[in-house]
Amino acid sequence: MLPSETDLQLLFAELNNFYFNGDVPVCRIRYNGRFSNSAGRITYSEKPLLIELSPKHFQKHPEALRETLLHEMIHAWLFDLNGDTGHGPAFRAKMKECGMTSIYHDLGNVTPYNESIKRYILRCEKCTLELLRKRLPAAAMSCGRCSKRGYDPRFPLTVFEVLETREIGTTAGKAAFRGR
Ligand SMILES: [Zn+2]
Ligand SMILES: [Zn+2]
Repeated sequence: MLPSETDLQLLFAELNNFYFNGDVPVCRIRYNGRFSNSAGRITYSEKPLLIELSPKHFQKHPEALRETLLHEMIHAWLFDLNGDTGHGPAFRAKMKECGMTSIYHDLGNVTPYNESIKRYILRCEKCTLELLRKRLPAAAMSCGRCSKRGYDPRFPLTVFEVLETREIGTTAGKAAFRGR
């Protein structure tokens, strides 16, 4: 049985006192049943800050709930302190203080927390080569297949931003689906 959202608020208050001296700003904590690939998430644009937890994951891994909540609380605490939203040195230091060793919880193939979901597709219109990138290239790039000797403005790569990604299952699932 999962703790109720009221129980989560109580756990939040307890952890806040114990590890943060009560300095974590007020957060609203709720379950979000639509999460499929992350255990927890914090939304900084909400007031109060919103922490969402995946009921699916914690039904399977109830022992991970406290750590996931703590993880999101460190984000809330750092964000309130200096706007920091990453997993940098300050995050890791606090994590250690809270007795946690890894950023990624033992929940199988859970994607890293708060990993940017921004993706770009660089496409060569000449040969239809497509590259997936997490960042926009810093310099102009040409197609590596069409221009083997370095940058060639005749073969530019067009940039597309990926606006939405949708999980459609694992590759195993897809293979099985095709086999039917
Ligand atoms: Zn995180
Ligand atoms: Zn090309």
